[in-house]
Amino acid sequence: MAAADVSLGNTEVRDLTRIERIGAHSHIRGLGLDDSLEPRDVSQGLVGQHAARRATGVIYKMIQEGQIAGRAILLAGKPGTGKTAIAMGLAQALGPDTPFTTIAGSEIFSLEMSKTEALTQAFRRSIGVKIMEETEIIEGEVVEIQVDTPVGGGDKTGRVTLCTTEMETVYDLGAKMIEALQKEKVGAGDVMTIDKASGKITKLGRSFTRSRDYDAMGPQTRFVQCPEGELQKRKEVVHVVSLHEIDVINSRQQGFLALFAGDTGEIKGEVREQIDLKVAEWREEGKATIVPGVLFIDEVHMLDIECFSWLNRALESHLAPVLIIATNRGIAKIRGTNYKSPHGIPIDLLDRLMIVSTVAYSEQEVKKILSIRCEEEDVEMDDDAIILLTKIAMETSLRYAIHMIMAAQLVSTKRKGTQVEIEDIKKVYSLFVDIKRSTQFLMEYQKDFMF
Ligand code: ATP
Repeated sequence: MAAADVSLGNTEVRDLTRIERIGAHSHIRGLGLDDSLEPRDVSQGLVGQHAARRATGVIYKMIQEGQIAGRAILLAGKPGTGKTAIAMGLAQALGPDTPFTTIAGSEIFSLEMSKTEALTQAFRRSIGVKIMEETEIIEGEVVEIQVDTPVGGGDKTGRVTLCTTEMETVYDLGAKMIEALQKEKVGAGDVMTIDKASGKITKLGRSFTRSRDYDAMGPQTRFVQCPEGELQKRKEVVHVVSLHEIDVINSRQQGFLALFAGDTGEIKGEVREQIDLKVAEWREEGKATIVPGVLFIDEVHMLDIECFSWLNRALESHLAPVLIIATNRGIAKIRGTNYKSPHGIPIDLLDRLMIVSTVAYSEQEVKKILSIRCEEEDVEMDDDAIILLTKIAMETSLRYAIHMIMAAQLVSTKRKGTQVEIEDIKKVYSLFVDIKRSTQFLMEYQKDFMF
């Protein structure tokens, strides 16, 4: 009985991982840029949207060079043009441990906490703390070594990762890595394995893309960090937690169970002050490093003037994450005032923004995005069905069409089909109405609903 329980537990865990894996943006693995930060047409799950990706590439460079402080990014564009996808791509490009938080402007208004508390929590969710520990490396373990070092003639810097299961090689990997770098065999972000016997270095993929090979190495992978090319033996990352998680765990009122309930309520200012002091102490002792993440606030025009002032001030903090806000409004009223302003954002915040606009997709691009989503969701779809789904996306919305994929797969499985065909798409289209048809229906029958 106990064994059965355990195995059931495992299945659930695996299923949960899978659900997470196929979230709305799980196909996005980076910004899809080449070494000179030019967008590749289709890469790392991102399709088209070249101008916005190019601009985001410049922002990525600024973040890496520590030039972003005090500024924020505004993504302006119609719904479904990839604003969230691009923000997610940026977070992925910044590295696998980069926290990415997304909230909608309207979420800030709740009865449980003040607006500024909700914003503070969102900010602190987006700042990671990498906690390091010194331990012995055990023979046979997979150890990952990262070296932040100049790459390719010294003009670029990046992180190169080597993996090994052999304890002895850990100690001379530093030298091997530098050698490989000098021969320019590897570039920033590459993940390599090294064969101990022959010393041969094989490229696995790029750590920024989180290649599946690399993921497949599993959670037993340990990290050894080498900040300046110096091999620091036995220093590994044991946890990456967010400042918010540390706040909740240390808040006597909340306790760590609140993390699971998601109902954390307000956290006292003193708790946060203590945590900040503690984290600063850990940093000084080399026990922790800060990983600034990305906070994405969608529908930013829903915020009011007080929230905007708070954001303005918070951006000055040395612990601010990269703030990306998005809106699809043009000139709009700033909530809480009688003034109108571009995007409904006050001038002093507008002044700090780097504005990137996203544009509507061509039919070809929509088709490509839908194909990528089918692959991500492990759905086999026949060509005619994809063409029909693309047409539906152009008529309705990309998001509606993406949601149809899984439903069409279920319909196909029910009729014992091996792949999704036109009939399945038609069936789902008739089962679930899109916004246009839904409002049309309501308008036609409006009088029947009113009493
Ligand atoms: P909204 O304004 O409604 O929040 P949005 O502009 O943020 O919309 P997304 O949510 O990013 O749009 O896009 C809708 C879906 O399409 C998501 O699943 C997203 O991952 C996918 N998507 C959008 N653009 C691209 C792209 N260029 N390449 C790949 N996938 C994309």
